[in-house]
Amino acid sequence: MAEERFDLVVRGGTVVTPGRQEVAGIGVSGGRIAQVGGPMTGDEEIDARGLLVLPGGVDAHVHLVTPTLAKAFPDEPIWVDDFWTGSLAAIAGGITTVANMTFALDGETMTDAVAREMAEAAAEAAVDWFLHPVLAGLGDGTAAEIAALAADGHASLKVFLSNPDFAAGTPGLADAIAAAGRAGALTLVHCEDAGMLAHAGHALIESGRGAVANFPEARPVSAEVEGVEQAIALGRLTGAPIYIVHLSSAAALDRCRQARAAGLPVYVETRPLYLHLTRDRFAEPDAAKYVGAPPLREQADRDALWHGLATGEIDTVCSDHAPWTLADKLDPDLNAVTARQGVADLETLMPMLYSEGVATGRITLDRFVELTSTNAARRFGLYPRKGAIAVGSDADLALWDPDERRTIDGARMQSRADYSPYDGWIVRGWPRHVIRRGQVVLSDGACLARPGQGQWLRRNPG
Ligand SMILES: [Zn+2]
Repeated sequence: MAEERFDLVVRGGTVVTPGRQEVAGIGVSGGRIAQVGGPMTGDEEIDARGLLVLPGGVDAHVHLVTPTLAKAFPDEPIWVDDFWTGSLAAIAGGITTVANMTFALDGETMTDAVAREMAEAAAEAAVDWFLHPVLAGLGDGTAAEIAALAADGHASLKVFLSNPDFAAGTPGLADAIAAAGRAGALTLVHCEDAGMLAHAGHALIESGRGAVANFPEARPVSAEVEGVEQAIALGRLTGAPIYIVHLSSAAALDRCRQARAAGLPVYVETRPLYLHLTRDRFAEPDAAKYVGAPPLREQADRDALWHGLATGEIDTVCSDHAPWTLADKLDPDLNAVTARQGVADLETLMPMLYSEGVATGRITLDRFVELTSTNAARRFGLYPRKGAIAVGSDADLALWDPDERRTIDGARMQSRADYSPYDGWIVRGWPRHVIRRGQVVLSDGACLARPGQGQWLRRNPG
């Protein structure tokens, strides 16, 4: 084979991509992978000996704030990362693509919100990105709006069954999900039953047990199981594929397993919180820092989720990055119903999963790549452009040092959240270099990215 010359060569690393692991060079030209293996030289070369070469992470579930959103609620705190600091956190943790939940503000349609966020994210993002329109109303025009958004490259729809306005059974909700299915858009569903949450929350407050420490009781497993059953039923009714976000419990996973066994297109995401922590954390004085919805569960749930990762019953691990400052999380005026939900997890998602999953032998390296990159790329219409190390794929690479050990310290990480729920954990396995579309954006730990370098990813309807 004649020696080819490329823009960039990554030499000597162990390339891990679905179904294959081998020591091979990667030649990159024009931002894409042009050759894997064989003789090659590059204008720029990276020595990857001793490193794993992984597809850059695809995190299909984040909450980043754009300038308009940041100004929309002047009297309340909001998530603290924008597309720039979110990109920095992503890159530091090996992630090269993120997908944001796009909420309509008062008076906006989904289409307005997407147009606004398209313009504002483009100026700030340094990783590639796409948007999930969040269902903002139900009316005569909703189905056509969902179809038009999908045709414009936004082929997904986020639905919160936990929101009383969109509770299962609300007239028009099934029509919206059916429209998404017809348009080739995947419906992402937050599965907690709105009515059951309302009851559990009221009951806690009225019995004088409304402290944030009781947050897990405000959102019981039964409400999640009910929501999952509703989502599956809506999928069965409409024929639309359903993607269940941040699944947290063994019982809910069991319902998904049954639905999949029956042949329904039901996909399952979980998030790091449920893999690494249990509700025992709520006995700590600063319990509010662990609040996310659904709440932390029991050890048996945690075990079931790890089993689901290993077997493939769970498709993706996404961060649900929703960062707050510690002071905002610990605000003493909040209770078990009003507690601020979400944590920063973009930078820690892949290292924690590698350390607790691959390094411990709970999941294989292949599975790690599927869970953090390949499966999300497939589900959201980006494979094999993203999620693979193959000729023609975007050159999105995390050059992973499996032996690097660091102690988590959220105050020193890239997110503007000044803490991590894993502060003090010793984590083994971090990216040393990160390449996004052929550009080195992390070099020996130093970020070289600039705002606006990230590209929006058009998703063709599936
Ligand atoms: Zn979320």
